[in-house]
Amino acid sequence: MLRCSFCGRRAVYHRRYAGVFLCDRCMIKSVERRFRRAINQNKLVNPGERIAVAVSGGKDSVACLHLLHNYCRGKRGEVVAITVDEGIKGYRDGSLPLARENAEILGVEHHLVSFKSAFGATLDEMVRIAAKRGTGLNPCTYCGVMRRHLLNQAARELRADKLATGHNLDDETQAIMLNYVRADLSRLYRLAPIYAPREGFVPRIKPLREIPEKEIGLYVLLKGIKVHLAVCPYASGIHTEIRDFLNSLEANHPNSKFMILRMFEEIRPYLKEAVPEFEMRGCERCGEPTSTRLCKTCELLQGIGLAKRRKKLISDGDS
Ligand SMILES: [Zn+2]
Ligand SMILES: [Zn+2]
Repeated sequence: MLRCSFCGRRAVYHRRYAGVFLCDRCMIKSVERRFRRAINQNKLVNPGERIAVAVSGGKDSVACLHLLHNYCRGKRGEVVAITVDEGIKGYRDGSLPLARENAEILGVEHHLVSFKSAFGATLDEMVRIAAKRGTGLNPCTYCGVMRRHLLNQAARELRADKLATGHNLDDETQAIMLNYVRADLSRLYRLAPIYAPREGFVPRIKPLREIPEKEIGLYVLLKGIKVHLAVCPYASGIHTEIRDFLNSLEANHPNSKFMILRMFEEIRPYLKEAVPEFEMRGCERCGEPTSTRLCKTCELLQGIGLAKRRKKLISDGDS
């Protein structure tokens, strides 16, 4: 029997990059400690703040909700959950009930916003519309841009001080590598533990950024937290290639992912000068903050003959 390197109980996990074995209790403690350290070191949350958490129902966002709920409760703060329904058949319909259920268990206010009601079409419908027009679209681009747009608007309408997402170490290193490959300095610069661009944007925080995906999976399992485990049917292309590359790198050279994140953090302060300053204004179409005439969401919608509806996402008194 393999024993926990810290307490001698039966080990459930081999943390290769650190050369240690962990039992269930030490594993849970370790994840929670790393979560608190990320918050304290980067000042992600201040006492009394209202934190909106983006909850899809998957393991990362649900773990983030549970951890932040416990953390904020002890600091006179509170969390609210926001779920975006992109309208991906056979995927989102499985995760939505789990987002709702977890919010309910914790007694957390839960808000659902959807592509369909904000943009007049689900992501599936947008893909079909683009195919019919003969243009085609990259679902991940549409989904990513529009989800961030709705999350920011909803968090602002809910008067949240911060918007938290469940990005883990794997997500973060994938994003770093993707921006290297695309030579996108501005997007690379945004990959901070806390990023607060300008007025109109709710500062985004990523408290799970230093925890490997595998360890979050184990954490929810050991805590008996119910999550949705399916993979998005649109996941493909360069994202999965980079993920597979990083996983094989980590398998042959443990600790590579942490090193990529560390190196990026060393470099990031120097990027500030290279990233152009931009002036903020309201999108001509929808009024949301943007540096260009049309925000990215309205620009993408225009490309497939759709337009965002000008209305609040969260109705007053809604919960
Ligand atoms: Zn132990
Ligand atoms: Zn717009």
